[in-house]
Amino acid sequence: MGLLDGKFAVVTGAASARGLGKATAKLFAEHGATVAILDLDQAQAEAAAADLGPNHVGMACNVIDKAQVQQVMDALIEKWGQIDILVNNAGITQPLKFMEIEPENYEAVTDVSLRGTLYCTQAVVPHMRQRKSGSIVNLSSVSAQRGGGIFGGPHYSAAKAGVLGLTKASARELAPDNVRVNAICPGFIATDITQGKLTPEMKEQVLAGIPMGRAGEAIDVAGCALFLASDLSAYCTGTEVDVNGGSLI
Ligand code: NAD
Repeated sequence: MGLLDGKFAVVTGAASARGLGKATAKLFAEHGATVAILDLDQAQAEAAAADLGPNHVGMACNVIDKAQVQQVMDALIEKWGQIDILVNNAGITQPLKFMEIEPENYEAVTDVSLRGTLYCTQAVVPHMRQRKSGSIVNLSSVSAQRGGGIFGGPHYSAAKAGVLGLTKASARELAPDNVRVNAICPGFIATDITQGKLTPEMKEQVLAGIPMGRAGEAIDVAGCALFLASDLSAYCTGTEVDVNGGSLI
């Protein structure tokens, strides 16, 4: 028996082969969920969904396009009858210093994390409220908690801190309808967002700040998402769960 048997889950930004979204979608599918993978490119989203097995779906969806987000969520609800779980995973980062951030950098990074999380959540909330059931998992970051990281600039920290605010505010508002909203704060996880951007010296510096002495794996974050998506966390809402190898100890 899977923890998500009979559930329908939507994971945004989940087409990237080594990404946290794909690992989460895969684990959800292994636990019985039918999964919709949303990402910028239709063919990549479809290919990622096909990797999970025959019953899953991949669709192009730019999370900062409110109209497209609503259209995609409506189409999924119409075809599959329900959305039980939403993982707001899409995110981008830029390794800029404070004074290097131009308006277009600020907009690009904050838009995907903040508008994306807001729009995707707004698109599923009426449906979840009506069913008096739903779990929403938002991807924040250790960068929000400790004021920056080696691969994310201050605008990324601000965006991910904003995600924590959105998580708590939406959790408070939606709790009476049994719609739960929680956040994950990953530390340094080996994915495309972090790999190839660090010199060996930078990597050594990052690892020195992690008591467990290693980068996390995507499955470490996926496991936490599974807990928050499933009924195992039925009484958790508005929480932030750290998956960081002890980086904040
Ligand atoms: P990734 O770059 O591997 O994947 C991100 C995915 O988001 C890509 O498939 C990309 O196409 C998609 N995407 C980007 N903009 C989009 C948009 N507008 N609409 C839809 N999809 C879009 O990243 P990852 O490392 O898997 O990170 C996933 C999430 O976790 C992000 O929110 C990231 O900020 C967060 N995070 C990652 C780490 C880490 O160490 N990897 C640490 C903390 C937080």
